[in-house]
Amino acid sequence: MLPLKVFSEQPVSEILASLVCDSISPVVKCEHCGRIHYDSSGEFMGKGELVRLEKQAKKNPQTYVKNDGGIHWGVIWANRTVINCPCNFLGWLEGHIWRDRKLISGYLLEKSTAVLEEAKRTHEDASKAALVE
Ligand SMILES: [Zn+2]
Repeated sequence: MLPLKVFSEQPVSEILASLVCDSISPVVKCEHCGRIHYDSSGEFMGKGELVRLEKQAKKNPQTYVKNDGGIHWGVIWANRTVINCPCNFLGWLEGHIWRDRKLISGYLLEKSTAVLEEAKRTHEDASKAALVE
């Protein structure tokens, strides 16, 4: 069996990890690499689920990642993304964001300015209409 994918060797920053993470679950499959992460305590799992996971992990140790505690994860590009997964998808993503930061920050600035200007016009129009009524 081929080793599972590793996207980057560069670790993700706490900043990006905390922005992505919005859930904790006892079992989560990282949809970027296929690894299945599980809480070794078995807490919040169905009956027999931990035993089943431990059996699967023995058969296929590179696919299963045992964790002390719940699995922290979030969604990126419609895929479940496990924080600190050995595939390090977030480290790879962060590298791209940082390399393209001029483009990304320029886009966010232009877009936000346009939205803010539209909101100001809407507010002014609503204020004028309120004076007429
Ligand atoms: Zn992964």
